[in-house]
Amino acid sequence: MASLKEATQTRRTFAIISHPDAGKTTITEQLLKLGGVVREAGTVKGRKGNFAKSDWMEIEQKRGISVTSSVLQFDFDGKRINILDTPGHEDFSEDTYRTLMAVDSVIMVVDSAKGIEPQTKKLFEIVSERHIPIFTFFNKLDRDGREPLDLVDELESTLGINAYPMNWPIGSGQILAGLFDRYHNNVEVYRPTSEAERFLPLNEEGVDLATPNAIQNNSLWDETRDEIEMLQDAGNQFDESAVMSGKLTPVFFGSALQGFGIETFLQTYMQFAPAPAPKHTITGEAIAPDNEQFTGFVFKIQANMNPNHRDRIAFLRIVSGQFERGMDVTLQRTQKKIRLANVTQFMADTRENVETAYPGDIIGIYDTGNFQIGDTIYAGKHEVTFEELPTFTPELFMRVHAKNVLKQKSFHKGVTQLVQEGTIQMYTAWDSGDYIIGAVGALQFEVFQFRMENEYNTEVSLETMGSKIARWIDPEQLDPRMASSRNLLVRDRHEKPVFLFENQFAERWFANKYPDVKLEAKL
Ligand code: GDP
Repeated sequence: MASLKEATQTRRTFAIISHPDAGKTTITEQLLKLGGVVREAGTVKGRKGNFAKSDWMEIEQKRGISVTSSVLQFDFDGKRINILDTPGHEDFSEDTYRTLMAVDSVIMVVDSAKGIEPQTKKLFEIVSERHIPIFTFFNKLDRDGREPLDLVDELESTLGINAYPMNWPIGSGQILAGLFDRYHNNVEVYRPTSEAERFLPLNEEGVDLATPNAIQNNSLWDETRDEIEMLQDAGNQFDESAVMSGKLTPVFFGSALQGFGIETFLQTYMQFAPAPAPKHTITGEAIAPDNEQFTGFVFKIQANMNPNHRDRIAFLRIVSGQFERGMDVTLQRTQKKIRLANVTQFMADTRENVETAYPGDIIGIYDTGNFQIGDTIYAGKHEVTFEELPTFTPELFMRVHAKNVLKQKSFHKGVTQLVQEGTIQMYTAWDSGDYIIGAVGALQFEVFQFRMENEYNTEVSLETMGSKIARWIDPEQLDPRMASSRNLLVRDRHEKPVFLFENQFAERWFANKYPDVKLEAKL
């Protein structure tokens, strides 16, 4: 059996982020294929069929979307890959954000006809705060897309990250001929006539093809070389340390649907994608993955997959040490001792009981209500508390009431528990004490309403307040008279004052009126 150190070094844990329809599912399927996981096209989205059917899944089925994000695990090139799936609908939620706290790097898939879309940008911003490597894949090269220079330029200016094209398209759509691979100094031919023709080496200057007639269209080839020269002269240098700190994104082109450029991408990605990193505790100590003490943190809780059992699964990212089924651990927050007997891992198409797992792996612990988002668990006596997971500033708000006033007790209980679980965020209006719930994606409201009804037997009415800008204010500076028709003063769950502004205009108006008051976008 592999040693802890060896096993850790082979782990690569990442997520794929994209705007819906950019091709995340198609790429995931191609990656699984390269990993030797045979499945029919379309089965990634159909994966939820493997879960126990339950009421809980109704929302998913009704909407045809994936509420649950799970983990796909497979081997490639001697590496054990964990892809953490993130829901791929525009109604994404805080779960998506939190999942990004459990990965070591990210693949960002962009539709080369559409460029950087809103959800890509949002997810990028969450990831970039962690300073982890981000690899970009411009997809759908088999279609007429935008000029590659234009795409790279937009990527850099919209997201504020430097880019280094690892390869460059030779045409696109109907005239797609191949990829000029700057990193491997060859040409990857689109639709080669033989395996030998798939990669054509370039000479030392990287300009001449060994077999030039493979690229039929000469003006296309000249154009590509011009662009490559320009990138060489005016573009960024490749700098591995800048890639590792998320300052430079290596850029790849290809077509997921045609399986073109995917293998090269995965191989190159695997050369650079980092193995599991140490994680900081609240005392500033860094727990290295090869530390023998088993530790991990809960980044997601999936509730009530089976309504008969009311069970939940806590998703744990292993930070250090080796997991063995049946081991005893301590849940730091409550100091409760727990035996990890009923633990599942999410292999590519089944769920199975897991015997051993290593840093970088994700295990699902069946839970009866012990865990909360962000919890640390550890084996042994040395107490470990990992840094808190960030909370994400909601952008959508709803006022919420129990429909039946006699149900106040279960209403409070449900709201409190669902807030603790991280389903939704909660605020109270400063004056009226009304409950206001906040979310980053509208789907969270739907899940909240569904679960209140099904688990707490309380119908809730939700009153739309639309999107708002939440800004925290120093309590010392607060004067309740600052509340006006243009804003709403609320308390967050730590009793801290927050202004909810209608729009940027209202926020600016406030800033002009109270120039000395500092507003923060985050707690
Ligand atoms: P997701 O929403 O990001 O998971 O996107 P999907 O993988 O479901 O892809 C959205 C649509 O784009 C589907 O119809 C795919 O067949 C199509 N698609 C994905 N990749 C490519 C590609 O490389 N070329 C073309 N032409 N279509 C693609």
